[in-house]
Amino acid sequence: MGDENLPEGQLDMFIDYDKEAEEAERRRREHEEFMKPKTCPACGTEVRNGHALHNGHGIDWPELTIGGWPIAEHPNYQGMCEAQWLVRNHIRYGVTTDPKSLDERVARGKELGLDTDQIIADARATLQGQAEDN
Ligand SMILES: [Zn+2]
Repeated sequence: MGDENLPEGQLDMFIDYDKEAEEAERRRREHEEFMKPKTCPACGTEVRNGHALHNGHGIDWPELTIGGWPIAEHPNYQGMCEAQWLVRNHIRYGVTTDPKSLDERVARGKELGLDTDQIIADARATLQGQAEDN
């Protein structure tokens, strides 16, 4: 097998070179895609690139998972991205501990598509349940 014009072993060298060049090209294209704007699949926020999607929303690109979990199946986040989960917790904190901050937190929650009325109702129910337990 091989090209008659090449000494034995020469063809393998070119095959390895082609694989490396293909791999470098694949990585370059993948990085180019990674650096394009992304939309968080959970909250719909548009972000600058895959870094911002990961750092701000916890979403891995291109898999669109959170730490390897499909978003809806993540054991902690209840179908939310990390930004939604964080703001949901801030709203709950506002209800239970720091009502002065609630308006700002609710506004951010609405930006992220959260049902803030439900979050507040749940937090108040939790508070009421805790009061009844005591
Ligand atoms: Zn998000």
